[in-house]
Amino acid sequence: MASSNAMFGAMSARRIHDGLAAKEFSAAEVASAVLSQAERLDEDVHAFLEMTPDLAADAAQAVDAAIADGTFADQGPLAGVPIAYKDNMNLIGTHTTCSSNMLADYVSPYTATCVERTLQAGMIPVGKLNMDEFAFGSSTETSAFGPTRNPWDLSRVPGGSSGGSAAAVAAGLVPATLGSDTGGSIRQPAAFCGVVGIKPTYGMVSRYGIVAFGSSLDQVGPFARTVEDAAWVLNAISGHDSRDCTSQANATDFAANLGAGVKGMKIGVVPAFMEAAGLTAEVKAKVQDAIAKLEAAGADIVEVELPNAAAAMSAYYVLGPCEAFSNLARFDSVRYGYCDPGHADLGGQYEASRAKGFGDEARRRIMLGSYLLSSGVYDTYYYPAQQIRTLITQDYVRAFEQVECLVTPVSPRTSFKFGEIGDPTEMYLSDMFTISINIVGYGGMSLPVGLGADTGLPVGVQLIAPAFKDENMLRVAAELEREYGSAPVAPDFAPEGGDAL
Ligand code: GLN
Repeated sequence: MASSNAMFGAMSARRIHDGLAAKEFSAAEVASAVLSQAERLDEDVHAFLEMTPDLAADAAQAVDAAIADGTFADQGPLAGVPIAYKDNMNLIGTHTTCSSNMLADYVSPYTATCVERTLQAGMIPVGKLNMDEFAFGSSTETSAFGPTRNPWDLSRVPGGSSGGSAAAVAAGLVPATLGSDTGGSIRQPAAFCGVVGIKPTYGMVSRYGIVAFGSSLDQVGPFARTVEDAAWVLNAISGHDSRDCTSQANATDFAANLGAGVKGMKIGVVPAFMEAAGLTAEVKAKVQDAIAKLEAAGADIVEVELPNAAAAMSAYYVLGPCEAFSNLARFDSVRYGYCDPGHADLGGQYEASRAKGFGDEARRRIMLGSYLLSSGVYDTYYYPAQQIRTLITQDYVRAFEQVECLVTPVSPRTSFKFGEIGDPTEMYLSDMFTISINIVGYGGMSLPVGLGADTGLPVGVQLIAPAFKDENMLRVAAELEREYGSAPVAPDFAPEGGDAL
């Protein structure tokens, strides 16, 4: 019998499932231990913005009832497994702040589809997680409620914008979380924190109930420490939702192919990415090592060209701010958001509320989008950015005529120190290898492949799959996981005696 202070957050979903099935421990024990440990350990990390003990207790009680009446086996592998959500996801009765003063007091009146589906799978909701304000950023430093720290080195950033989602998993606070990715916000923090992070194909997961950033780019996905756990969560959250017109039906079991290996698989590498300026030697070496391991495992490595991908960053910083500007118009102090008191005229109220409610980076994106969509300027930037989008998409279509999956770096470097990158344009380069995947809408994920030789910090490789073939990248990820081992809990947070995966 495991003691109730077992580190359930450091276990895999499979381990928790098996322990529940064997009645080694109850779901109520899992829920209360995860909450009390998260409360204690999160003082250093600050991944959580809110914990949800009442919702967790209710969900655990339902799982324990199923165990008692013999129906637990029908519930699927995630029943009783704790999960937490990026704070741009509505969960009824909880705050959904987007880490912004604009929404500091906003309480969700309903639950997002992806969150609802985790609850239907029997998962135990333990809380809401810190992020860059409105998901603008790559470090979680733009949160209005203070940054999240990287569990591998508390003086460093966890990446962003889903920094809380990555750090909570890396610190072993919870086995799985959800994040969102508009230009790299799942994959880059997953790489910085050494966990698995999946941005599925656009349309795979409903965005209903997620606060929108870039509606043609946003996608929701899981973080976990094993590929299988991440695949299970993706199974739970994916599929058609009549309330998101971009969502697609999906009958794929993402965990089905994980043991298939890569023998005979055609896997692409992009030479221009490997030679990109800014890619550090230690990250490059790790990606090369992963490629070599795949080749040794029987994959056929093929070089492919993505000639227009270098323009993805420029296109994204036109399209992203334009969409953000439009989506954030609703935070006007009347429909939604902070209302600055004492204004006699509506214009003054709008102006003061938005000036005080939004932080610097949010204001920067709004002003950029407003300018780019203004008449005259639109034809110079927005329209060409859409044309570039088409060219990049054609590049990927051609590449995937030759291969089933691509392997690239996630981020050009490992995690940086707080305040180290002050220049916004330098920060934007964090996503140089991830952004083009959002531009085309394909699936991309980050898989941890150990520590960099120079910094000793986690490095991730990016695996990219064609639209609605996300199972291809998961299959490659599972092969690499067999080579490198599943993601460890960050050493300072690891439970004694190992990870108990
Ligand atoms: N870092 C990128 C940005 O700031 C991507 C953010 C995201 O994916 N949400 O726009």
